[in-house]
Amino acid sequence: MADSEHSAWDVRMKGFLRRSTVEEVLAWLDGAIRPLGPELVPLDAAAGRVLAEDVLSTVDVPGFDRAMMDGLAVRAADTLGASPYNQLPLEVVGEALPGRPFSGSVGPGQAVRIMTGAPLPAGADAVLPAELANIHGSQVWAQSEVPPGKHVGRKGEDIATGTRVLQAGRVLRPQDVGVLASMGIGQVSVIRQPRVAIVITGDELLPPGCPPQGFQIADSNGPMLAALVRRDGGVPHPAGIVPDRPQAILDAMRASADVVLVSGGSSVGQEDHAPLLLRQHGELVFHGIAMRPSSPTGLGRLEGRLVVLLPGNPVSCLCAYDMFAGRAIRQLGGRSQDWPYRRLRARLARKISSAVGRLDYLRVRLVDGLVEPLAIGGASLLSSTTRADGFVLVPADSEGAPAGAEVEVFLYDSPLRL
Ligand code: AMP
Ligand code: MG
Repeated sequence: MADSEHSAWDVRMKGFLRRSTVEEVLAWLDGAIRPLGPELVPLDAAAGRVLAEDVLSTVDVPGFDRAMMDGLAVRAADTLGASPYNQLPLEVVGEALPGRPFSGSVGPGQAVRIMTGAPLPAGADAVLPAELANIHGSQVWAQSEVPPGKHVGRKGEDIATGTRVLQAGRVLRPQDVGVLASMGIGQVSVIRQPRVAIVITGDELLPPGCPPQGFQIADSNGPMLAALVRRDGGVPHPAGIVPDRPQAILDAMRASADVVLVSGGSSVGQEDHAPLLLRQHGELVFHGIAMRPSSPTGLGRLEGRLVVLLPGNPVSCLCAYDMFAGRAIRQLGGRSQDWPYRRLRARLARKISSAVGRLDYLRVRLVDGLVEPLAIGGASLLSSTTRADGFVLVPADSEGAPAGAEVEVFLYDSPLRL
């Protein structure tokens, strides 16, 4: 590539000429992303996964009429008129236990001792609970009437053959796994989880677990991104810490993955290689977004992978992940594009101000039911997101809002899928 050509798109040390809007980026992402294909997983790995196909039952559950109480399997007609003052005699002719049915048939005036879950014997049509019978060995007396069908669980009453039990797209709950098992299903077709390579760049970074030392800092984005990826149903593949060298970054971006997240070096400094690499070797669709923090975010493609270039500043990294990468990962995995954050509406304790033309991501606390903006402007203080209860978004066309105005708060405390 000629130098003149190179300088036309090399924004390093010049700043962004134009920033894309968040809406433009989201529209591109939503249009570019299709859910991944299906894979079969055993039931014990199915909870939390997204069902790829409808599940229709090919069996009845239960597959037979069964007792719902311990007592006597009877012919309901034989109990007609029975009461504590008019006890009616029945002859016990056998026993039915779960998994061990009574092989004969219950004739008029007869009964079979039966336990909950045992098949109802032929001839019987009701269960007289033990507490409504006077039992002396094989001689029993009914002390109450039972209508036909009483305390009998019918074949197919839980799930009838042909029923659509679960729909494609369902995020499987533990009880769904139980229902699948009840139909004899041992493995299930689910949407493949996106593989997400996490490339952490920066010569100043120490691996997690190392205390900050000299001019070096510990990598906080790697562990944070891995947890976010898991939360959003992806499988993180940490690529370790990569030095600020173009070839090393390019090699790491070529990891076998559906999505590549690159942390650091996404801006316009002289050590910011990732945007240039993506433009040279793939496609850099967006670079520079009208938002704060996270303005130096980039998005594009490299040999079929979605690549998101995240700023190294940890708050920016979190914000850019949440704004773009998380949404993409959830959609690839067949999940909702929406944030997993709970929302609530509350009034501002103090005014918030914001420049028109960019979306602001403001960390806030909830104090006595009011929304208190945290007094931190910068994107480098990650502990601000730990002190915060959540965040408020100020749209690009807004200058902010006065004290007392109602705003929507997204709460950080969302359930994690770890
Ligand atoms: P960069 O985006 O690479 O220019 O980094 C911006 C700032 O974020 C610098 O102060 C970096 O030291 C810091 N930073 C970059 N990567 C990380 C990381 N993985 N963990 C913590 N801080 C980082
Ligand atoms: Mg860096």
